[in-house]
Amino acid sequence: MTEEMVYTCKFGGSSLADGPRVAKAAEIIKSDPRRRYVVVSAPGRKTSSDRKVTDLLYAVHENKRLGLDSREALDAALRPLEWIARDLNQWEGFHKLVKDLRDVVHTTGVSVDFIASRGEYLMARLLAMYLDWPFIDAKDIVRFTSQGQFSPEFTQRIAAEELAKYPRAVIPGFYGAIPEGDIKTFSRGGSDLTGAIIARATSSVLYENWTDVDGMMSADPRIVPDARPIDKVTYRELRELSYMGASVFHEEAVIPAKIAGTTIHIRNSLNPESAGTRVMHESHRGYHPVVVGIAGLKGFSTIHVRKTLMNEEIGFARKLLTVLADEGISIEHMPGGIDALSVIVPTTSVLNREELIIAEIKDVCRTDEVEIEHGLALIATVGHGMWRTPGVAARLTGALAKQSINIKMINQGSSELNIIVGVAAADYELAIRAIHQEFFP
Ligand code: ASP
Repeated sequence: MTEEMVYTCKFGGSSLADGPRVAKAAEIIKSDPRRRYVVVSAPGRKTSSDRKVTDLLYAVHENKRLGLDSREALDAALRPLEWIARDLNQWEGFHKLVKDLRDVVHTTGVSVDFIASRGEYLMARLLAMYLDWPFIDAKDIVRFTSQGQFSPEFTQRIAAEELAKYPRAVIPGFYGAIPEGDIKTFSRGGSDLTGAIIARATSSVLYENWTDVDGMMSADPRIVPDARPIDKVTYRELRELSYMGASVFHEEAVIPAKIAGTTIHIRNSLNPESAGTRVMHESHRGYHPVVVGIAGLKGFSTIHVRKTLMNEEIGFARKLLTVLADEGISIEHMPGGIDALSVIVPTTSVLNREELIIAEIKDVCRTDEVEIEHGLALIATVGHGMWRTPGVAARLTGALAKQSINIKMINQGSSELNIIVGVAAADYELAIRAIHQEFFP
C-alpha cells in the first residue's frame, strides 16, 4: 500500500455515545481500506441532558480531592463504556479493564490527568477489540516535557517510528505522557489535536474528523437558523473561526495538519452522506470568498487607559503590558488613540480584582485615568477574500448601523483575514444575524 493511501480518522464523543453509534463508526472505518489509523474521544453526549464521560471522570477526581466517596461517581463515568461493551459483545474482554481501573482509583492516589484520560483509553481499547485491530497507547507516542509542555517534534519522531510498525491501529486521543511516565492531557477537546498529530506522523493525505454536525457552519445555527455549511475553508480561516468560538474543531489541531499538508475533512458520522467541510492550504482552494464565516464570543472586558501625551512616552505600552503579564492576564486586542489605549481581556481574568489591577496600572504607568468596563462581546468576520477588496468593512459596519448597533471596538489586521468588532453583549445575537444577512443574503 502506498503512502498516499493513508487516512487518519478521529471520532468525537458524540459519534461514540452508545453501542449503535460505535458500531456505525466501525462500519465507516471498515468501508474504506485507506482508513488505517483511528483516534477516539471518550463517549460523549447523546442528548443535551447527558453528561460526557470526561466530565464525569473529572467529578471522580474532585470527590477524591474533597475526601468524599468516589465509588458512585466512578460507576457513573464507567457506565456508558460498560453499556457499549455489552452492546458490542465485548464484555468478556472488557470487564477486566474496568475492574483494574476501579482498583487503581479506589486504592491509590491518582492524578487528575490520569483519571480524565481514562475515557479515551477505555474507548480505544474497546474499539480495538471490536475491530480486531492493534491498540497503541498514546502515552507511548505523544510526549510532553516534564513541565507539561507538548513536544511536537519529539512526538513526531517517536510516533512516526512506532506507527510505521503497524498497518492499522486504534489510538486514544486527548493525552500523552511526560518523560517520567505520568499521564498529561491536552486542553479540553484535545482529541482533535491527537488526530492531527497521528495524521502527520503517518503522512496521511486526509485527516477525517468525524463529529455530529454537517461540518463547519457560516455562523452558529442556534443564533442564525439559516446558517449554511462551509464546503471549503483554509487552515488560517479555520483557526480564526474556532478560536472565536466555532467549537467544531480545536484551533490548535490545525497546526500539525498544516505542517504535513494534510487536508482535514470535518464530517458527520450520523449523516455520512453530507459533504462536510474540507480544510486546506490557501493555494489549494483556488477561489476565495470575501467572507467564509462569522464567529463570536461574549465574556470580554475593556481596560480603558488614558494619559495626556501618551503618544510621546516611549515604552508606555510595554509598562502596561508588563503589569498585565505579571497579573497573568492574557490580551485579546489593544486598539488605541493618541492619548488612550484600550486593552480587551477575558472578563474571567479581571473579575473581582478590578481595584487591584487599576491601582497597579496607575502606579506603574503613572496614568490619569484607568477604568474597567465589562459586558463586551467580540465578533470575527473571517475570509481570505477580503484581502485587497475595498468596501468589506463598510458593508459590515453598515449592516450593524442599520440595526442601530453601536460598535465599541473595531480591529482589522493588515493580513486582512478578518475584521473583529466589539459590541455590547446585549447586542451580540442581533449583530451576528445582521452581519450574516449582509454576507450570506
Ligand atoms: N474527552 C475530552 C474532552 O471532553 C477530549 C476530547 O473529546 O477531545 O474534552
